Amino acid sequence: MHKAEFRKYAHQLVDWMADYQEQCVQYPVKSQVKPKDILKKLSLLPPDESEEFSIIFNDFIQIILPGITHWQHPKFFSYYPAQTSAPSILAEMLTATLGVQCMSWQTSPAATELEERIMEWLVKMLGLPKNFNGVIQDSASTATFCSLLTAREKASHYTTNQYGLYKQTPYTLYCSEEAHSSIEKAVKMSGLGHHYLRKIAVDAHYAMKPARLDAAIREDRAKGLQPLWVVAAIGTTGSTAIDPLQQIGEICAEQRVWLHVDAAYAGTAFILPEMRSYLKGIEYVDSFVFNPHKWLLTNFDCSAYFVKDKNALIKCFEILPEYLKTAEATVNNYRDWSISLGRRFRALKLWFVIRSYGVNNLRKIIRNHIRMAKSLAEQIAKTNDFEIMAPVLLNNICFRYHPKNCNDLNALNQLNARLLETLNATGKIYLSHTKLGASYVIRIVVGQPTTEIYHLHEAWALIKETSALLSATKIQYSKVINNN
Ligand SMILES: *Cc1c(COP(=O)(O)O)cnc(C)c1O
Repeated sequence: MHKAEFRKYAHQLVDWMADYQEQCVQYPVKSQVKPKDILKKLSLLPPDESEEFSIIFNDFIQIILPGITHWQHPKFFSYYPAQTSAPSILAEMLTATLGVQCMSWQTSPAATELEERIMEWLVKMLGLPKNFNGVIQDSASTATFCSLLTAREKASHYTTNQYGLYKQTPYTLYCSEEAHSSIEKAVKMSGLGHHYLRKIAVDAHYAMKPARLDAAIREDRAKGLQPLWVVAAIGTTGSTAIDPLQQIGEICAEQRVWLHVDAAYAGTAFILPEMRSYLKGIEYVDSFVFNPHKWLLTNFDCSAYFVKDKNALIKCFEILPEYLKTAEATVNNYRDWSISLGRRFRALKLWFVIRSYGVNNLRKIIRNHIRMAKSLAEQIAKTNDFEIMAPVLLNNICFRYHPKNCNDLNALNQLNARLLETLNATGKIYLSHTKLGASYVIRIVVGQPTTEIYHLHEAWALIKETSALLSATKIQYSKVINNN
């Protein structure tokens, strides 16, 4: 592409981007294509010769867009959000243009020093302990994996990296039944053995029962095993349940096990001082992760990982081949704080976002999401034939449709699964589900920057209408499907 073309198309794309933000609401939220629809339209072979950018872009519109699920749509209530914002997108454009690698201080001093300062800002913004040191990771899954490897390395007096686990008494690991799958994945990858992961029972609100954790650790010790690592979920993925950090922290301190907090989604809520009671006990925490790329208006990927003992982290991951040796002694080389060598310049978008909004406006946005979710939850709770299935601590509503004449759990689960499928097939809203205990529940997460209360009212009207249609007979159900 010639320089002049780059300039021309870049301007056109920015116009398209601005239009998309305004018009996103007109697309079906969930892509309506079927498996292989897109694949069939894609050329089997890469082109041998150059293609015009205008043609490539036209294919983006014709082929790719129909297969896009619109995560920035105001009626995207699925999963957890993956927010963007104007300042974040602009920063990503600069990051892409600079194309720097941020593995060592020397490979871009500004990237390293900005990351250091922004992590200090986040510590202050969330009210985390002053002795936390932060580093940006690509995802919470990576951060949690780093936490486990560091805990293992420290507990083995830094011998496992060298000699492997051959002579170790097995380590045991703990999280609640509701903890995120990334914990299981980390345990599998670590070589510590899934067999040694204990899923601790939860209470009626889906939070870990600390007494069960205490008993499990003691039992393992009595068997001669080595309790190593506990994960407390602050905001589970299913229902945003919050494990009792203070009690878990006291147990971990007494038992001398590493305490990791997975606050991937809910962590952002702690920019609100009124939410910080959930952080009571944070002084016991060894590592903490939350994702600005979910709820802090920052594009994926951007996961903020904090540790109390940064030397343990660095000792676990540091590696120094000749070609990476540099002279500066007192600087951060973030390649030693994580798994990959090459690292994107991610601090820039956080800097743009935090400065562009200001902390007070970010607080307003988060407060508003929580307020809107709570008001919708109240409405759902008051409606006949619907029930709220878990406490709405933040902005995730877990509910189900429960007509009076239906009391069989299997039938209820199937009915709600059909309801979800039917709603998502309308393209008007996009919701996801989870299982809480044996119950299938539908989730509405109110976390889009563009969502306003009327979007929620429209969504709720559609849910009521669709459920009424569905509940009567199977015949009616198939009609609803066909009409869409
Ligand atoms: C989203 C989520 C994760 C995974 O985050 P990634 O950054 O996608 O790895 C882990 N834990 C919880 C509680 C989450 O909500």
